[in-house]
Amino acid sequence: MEKLLVINSGSSSLKFKLLVMPEEKEVADGLVDRIGIDGSKIKIKYGDGQKYEHAEEIKDHEVAVDRLTFLLKDLGIVKDLNEITGVGHRVVAGGEYFKHSVVVDDEVIKHIDEIADMAPLHNPANLMGIKAFKEILPDAFSVASFDTAFHQTIPAVNYLYSTPYEWYQDYSVRRYGAHGISHKYVSQLAAEKLGKPVEDLKLITCHLGAGSSVCAVKNGKSFDISMGFTPLTGVTMATRSGDVDAALLGYMMNKLNIDSMDDMLDILNHKSGLIGISGVSSDMRDLLEAESQGNKRAGLAIDMFVKNVVKYIGEYIAEMGGVDGIVFTAGIGENSIPVRKRIMERLEYLGLTFDDSKNSENYEGIISQPDSKVAVLRLSTNEELMIARDIMKLKGEA
Ligand code: ADP
Repeated sequence: MEKLLVINSGSSSLKFKLLVMPEEKEVADGLVDRIGIDGSKIKIKYGDGQKYEHAEEIKDHEVAVDRLTFLLKDLGIVKDLNEITGVGHRVVAGGEYFKHSVVVDDEVIKHIDEIADMAPLHNPANLMGIKAFKEILPDAFSVASFDTAFHQTIPAVNYLYSTPYEWYQDYSVRRYGAHGISHKYVSQLAAEKLGKPVEDLKLITCHLGAGSSVCAVKNGKSFDISMGFTPLTGVTMATRSGDVDAALLGYMMNKLNIDSMDDMLDILNHKSGLIGISGVSSDMRDLLEAESQGNKRAGLAIDMFVKNVVKYIGEYIAEMGGVDGIVFTAGIGENSIPVRKRIMERLEYLGLTFDDSKNSENYEGIISQPDSKVAVLRLSTNEELMIARDIMKLKGEA
């Protein structure tokens, strides 16, 4: 039995899960929020429904890791920190260096740092987490799992932009995608539920949350992904624009008297998408509620979101020459019955029929009718479990 800690560290937050392996049992999960900002807070759920919540000043990631490890002991979640034999870190951008999860060493740290400008909000935060845990748990086996790694199998015809080829050769400009840990996890789970080897299937996995992406998984490998060089593009997201014409940036910089590209990208990252269109909320639950009360822009934002997902599904069916199964996962994909229904209704032209009673609850598994030409699955993603499995695998190889 091993206790493994999986860390998802963002610029001002640090989420964690503690799992017992190989039993794959979650024993604690929690969050240190607003690191370096007023109103920092630690929340931990553990045991059988116990909760710890405390507001205190947490000035940086090192303090966050210090407090977290102290609390794991203090709350009796572990008796001794040495029980934690492995720490897995979710890293957003792995560039072309990382095609799978790796054991963290100085070289790995150097490469994650080198490509920080591909994910300036995320990679530096991921590195802070890695370094802080190396200090506090120096003996734990440390692994980095990359959101881009699964997409390293995408062929050049799908990952290249139609820009000068030298941009790729000299500056590594290409589609890297994201959410790879989740797309890989749910595609493998979908194959299990369908009772076929993933190598024999053409799947489209829709990770629809605050950030959303649609992935074509052909024969178990990522074949195309709606996110691009960064996670800004693809479908409409909570606050991110998804695809826009690049020429729009210069045009709107003139109109709005904005002279910094960072300010422009800030609008596309934080003030666009569902919140930008609706003016109501970035949260799908609020939009559905507003739409039901007659708010037209909320309805339009939902329709655009649905259309974008349907558009990518259509694109990937064409690219793969068919599809066996479509998977819904993440915050919206797992929980929003009406959004799933609206997407599936738009796909009835494929001979897709769904089971309304299975879609009316959060049923884990196949929600299409047995005679549907395309299977549809609702599956809960579990990126932390995927990372914990990678730690076990790499430990076995070490
Ligand atoms: P993240 O990208 O931060 O991991 P999640 O996958 O947790 O995001 O998704 C969060 C989003 O899921 C929320 O912003 C909300 O729009 C949506 N969501 C969660 N529950 C529901 C629900 N019951 N109905 C509709 N949308 C939901």
